[in-house]
Amino acid sequence: MSNSALFYQAGVTLPLVSHGKGIYLWDTQGKRYIDACSGAITCSLGHQHPSVTAAMKAQLDKVAFSYRTQFESQVAVDLGDVMVALTEDRLQRVFLVGSGSEAVESAMKLARQYFYVRGETQRKHFVSLRPSYHGSTLGALGLTGYQPLEQPFEDLLIPSIKVPSPDFYRYTEVDISTHVTRLLQQTEAAMAAAPEGSIAAFVLEPVGGASTGARMLNREYLQGIRALCDRFGCLLIMDEVLSGIGRTGEWFAWQHWGICPDILALAKGMGAGYYPVAAIMAKADLVDTVQSAGGFMHGHTYAGNPLACATGLAVIQAMQDENILDNVREQGRYLRECLEQMKVRYPVIGDVRGIGFLQGVELVQPDAGKTPFPASFNAFSRITECAKKRGLLIYPRRCLNGMAGDHFLVTPPLITTRVELDEMMECLDQALK
Ligand code: PMP
Repeated sequence: MSNSALFYQAGVTLPLVSHGKGIYLWDTQGKRYIDACSGAITCSLGHQHPSVTAAMKAQLDKVAFSYRTQFESQVAVDLGDVMVALTEDRLQRVFLVGSGSEAVESAMKLARQYFYVRGETQRKHFVSLRPSYHGSTLGALGLTGYQPLEQPFEDLLIPSIKVPSPDFYRYTEVDISTHVTRLLQQTEAAMAAAPEGSIAAFVLEPVGGASTGARMLNREYLQGIRALCDRFGCLLIMDEVLSGIGRTGEWFAWQHWGICPDILALAKGMGAGYYPVAAIMAKADLVDTVQSAGGFMHGHTYAGNPLACATGLAVIQAMQDENILDNVREQGRYLRECLEQMKVRYPVIGDVRGIGFLQGVELVQPDAGKTPFPASFNAFSRITECAKKRGLLIYPRRCLNGMAGDHFLVTPPLITTRVELDEMMECLDQALK
């Protein structure tokens, strides 16, 4: 157990990690953990993936870092081309960055610079959903609709116009379609209340992550938002930092509905835990407008370095070689079935939602309708601790003041087999008991 100068979570003593292999991690005491959440929904290919580590070692033996204003690298060019192909050429430009928060902020800056170059300097505002999570740096935190994270920094944030996210579990209308219609009307009113021509972009997670326990938007809602963006002349930014790169069974979640954003933010699965690799992708005309006026004014030292790009490229290649998307679709259905069966057995499970290997489980008070546990009960940490004691890692989130109960994500590495899922489910069953 560590006791060090590092500070992270208050009041928590963590085991020291020793090593990982496939979907398993070991601590220095020799205890084995099943990684049912891919770390932070990141390690899509598990640990010590042979072709990824080999590609990284090979790149290290050539050059790890070269600066993007001095050299281009072949691996960077190849990564860009491969990523565009994954969008079926619908997003033709790629800008590499180093983290999810930075990807979101780069998307915001690209949107703003695009309108600036076009002389639409009044287009300043962003619209985002509550609840949502878009990152921890100040710009991304301004979009994030999760009050406890925002409060201490409120005066530093660029406040976005927050509109309620659809809630397909606790909606009160007669059906989902009526719920969506009401929310779209509410959103339209909120956008119309902003000064005319002042909205730069609408930012949303097509499938939520930690903030909503894998709440998945639907076609009707997304079509409505796309139409509102067109009507108000603003861009649509999708934050797929968590849902992108195969997690949902498509390369990008927007491909489930065919509703393509103008700018897409990606991170976690891109480097799959092997190296911090992230990106924004955008439509060519948008980027070319910015490039023709001197170029995008953004850049961090480590962004797009050869080691990062070799990693990103090797991750996508391994996913293609191993037909990972097929595995996510097939085993994702099985995972969902298992969780739905648990919901029948355990009244503490109120809702199971999500898609592919991005599944969320919401906890409620047994036999009390959809009533969340009181925050003081700490349901999310209880279940996480029970699971961890049994050697199972899940990704928890505290309840959101009436907007959602405590929940946890089950987001295994995308390589997970059916036998491994059975082992995972057996452990989860024990923890829930
Ligand atoms: N957006 C979403 C949807 C995320 O889930 C996260 C990370 N959980 C971020 C942005 C921020 O990413 P990072 O932690 O890499 O900055």
